[in-house]
Amino acid sequence: MLRFFTLLALCSIAQCCPTILTKSQWGGRSPTCRTAMSVPVPYVIIHHTEGTACSSKSTCTTQAKNVQSYHMNSNGWCDVGYSFLIGGDGSIFEGRGWTSVGAHAPNYNSKSIGISLIGSFTKSNPTTAAQNAAKSLISCGVSKGYIKSTYILKGHRNVTATDCPGNTFYNTVKTWPRFQA
Ligand SMILES: [Zn+2]
Repeated sequence: MLRFFTLLALCSIAQCCPTILTKSQWGGRSPTCRTAMSVPVPYVIIHHTEGTACSSKSTCTTQAKNVQSYHMNSNGWCDVGYSFLIGGDGSIFEGRGWTSVGAHAPNYNSKSIGISLIGSFTKSNPTTAAQNAAKSLISCGVSKGYIKSTYILKGHRNVTATDCPGNTFYNTVKTWPRFQA
């Protein structure tokens, strides 16, 4: 019994984080520049990539690489814009990570974690695995001190003129904990 509660306590402090594939693990490119971000941040912003969806580790890795290439080659950015990307299989890909300023939401980049679900979710929702991975990633960020426990969750469209993260998914995000338009 004692051991059970000890494990629970440890879990609430640091252990309950999902697997996050680091840049080197998924074969992403290193950033060409970086601005450190002060943490914990007060906001979490949810996106969709508005591209092809994926349902396996290999196809999702391909999509993560495509998004990163687009952001670096076409937009001329230092790195993929998002803090993290999540595939339909629930895989989590490190983008800028917890402690670097992203390029995903004007005026919020230096005070938020930007999480983008791979696919276009105007007419359908991301998979349950992807949604659970996003929620688990947020809890992890709170437990590790990267996100304030009093954080506010927003969809990209709440902070700038965009359809992101898609109508159907946006209606789902509105039901998630700590959402505020
Ligand atoms: Zn967006």
